[in-house]
Amino acid sequence: MSDIYELGIPLEAVEMIVARYALTMYVYADGLCTLCGNRGVMDTRRVRTPAGVEVGRLNYCLCPNGMALRQRGVDLDRWLTTPPGGQP
Ligand SMILES: [Zn+2]
Repeated sequence: MSDIYELGIPLEAVEMIVARYALTMYVYADGLCTLCGNRGVMDTRRVRTPAGVEVGRLNYCLCPNGMALRQRGVDLDRWLTTPPGGQP
């Protein structure tokens, strides 16, 4: 299976395409992300396959908020416990 590095596509180009896709598919007209509630984090730690295999984890969201967190290298566990308006 190839990854984006093998394809030779710059990461910045991929991020721009994914952000446009997320804004088209997952954002309400008021600009809020329906995947993460604009927090930038998707917490799927309780998600299991139909067979019961745990597959969840903390993920950066596909939206611009999630991408900004990933680019800053924000620790998602810490981010989720940071009060709104606080800096992780
Ligand atoms: Zn999001």
